[in-house]
Amino acid sequence: LFLNYYMNTFESLGLSQEILRAIEDMGFESPSEVQDKTIPILLEEPTDIVALAQTGTGKTAAFGFPLIQNIDLNSKKTQGLILSPTRELCLQITNELKNYSKYYKGLNTVAVYGGASITDQAKQIKRGAQVIVATPGRMKDMIRRQIIDISAIDICVLDEADEMLNMGFYEDIKEILSHSPSSKSTWLYSATMPKEVSQIAKKFMKSPVEITVGQKNVSTKNVSHEYYVVAGRDRYNGMKRLVDANPEIYSVIFCRTKRDTQKVAEQLIEDGYSASAIHGDLSQNQRDLVMKSFRNKQIQMLVATDVAARGIDVDDITHVINYQLPDEIETYTHRSGRTGRAGKEGTSMVIITKSEIRKIRQVERIIGQKFEEKKLPSGDEICK
Ligand code: ADP
Ligand code: MG
Repeated sequence: LFLNYYMNTFESLGLSQEILRAIEDMGFESPSEVQDKTIPILLEEPTDIVALAQTGTGKTAAFGFPLIQNIDLNSKKTQGLILSPTRELCLQITNELKNYSKYYKGLNTVAVYGGASITDQAKQIKRGAQVIVATPGRMKDMIRRQIIDISAIDICVLDEADEMLNMGFYEDIKEILSHSPSSKSTWLYSATMPKEVSQIAKKFMKSPVEITVGQKNVSTKNVSHEYYVVAGRDRYNGMKRLVDANPEIYSVIFCRTKRDTQKVAEQLIEDGYSASAIHGDLSQNQRDLVMKSFRNKQIQMLVATDVAARGIDVDDITHVINYQLPDEIETYTHRSGRTGRAGKEGTSMVIITKSEIRKIRQVERIIGQKFEEKKLPSGDEICK
């Protein structure tokens, strides 16, 4: 009875038959908290909203379903714009929106991002894109070149607002928004609410409704956290042992810098492992290829910087390995949230030196979960 009380249904949120059918195809059974709390508001009437929910809580569908349902299919005009921090997220959101809208014939969603041909993207937009999912840099460019007209949009979504501002997109966002009508609704979704985000909300939004969902990330409950103490020079070999002890591993390995990311990946490949690096020094094309082979499981281990991996939503990741702890302790939540998704179990492992143990205590306070201190597997255990 207690459970049922909280168990809302998608039907009760006011979603259309077309979207409900798509939801059934995707196998979602009931709305997540952020979906439950924001979708009815966004379907009701035009409104600005600030929604705070951690990574992995289903924010894409929370704004995606109502956005799609708001589109007038009789018009080819651009009606919805989603700004997102990275090319990878941009493609991921576009993909999801296409799934959500599969029963809406004539609804076109186009991804607009840097590092790919402007001409191709312009062609797609010419054919009519009611929804555009864009990174701020390329979007600004396209507006300046008058390829995209957002003067008639009804909805602008700022997804992962905290991350976009972290990445220095404030000026771009400001310029983009200045080309949009003041009558539009702005939906801001973010994992955290630093000063910069509340300033954006104050400056560009009209008394937004504020929704915060429970501190607990649904996914982190399925994640166990472990740390392994090594001498600094044994970091790499320690990690290798963890990998050897888990032959079925499908993992993201986080490093602090692009240089370490590249180095660790190269070393793993040299040692005969299935690994690849992803970081900002790779060309967009290379990054796409790496992501594709990781998704297809042609690569078992993705060695990544935080920026390159942020928001990437790949199910089935069994282990997150923190080759080093992140500089910003808060980032740990984003990292460990890569595993334990969609109800599966996951493990987040941290390799640290003795002097870093106190940082583990800080992380424990932030995530509200305890770490287990574990010993590196010995040779015997690996052979078993
Ligand atoms: P966020 O943007 O909050 O980090 P996502 O929108 O990327 O989260 O969703 C995380 C994962 O959860 C995705 O794999 C998505 O398909 C899945 N998901 C979203 N909503 C539901 C739901 N209601 N039921 C089951 N899975 C869901
Ligand atoms: Mg997201």
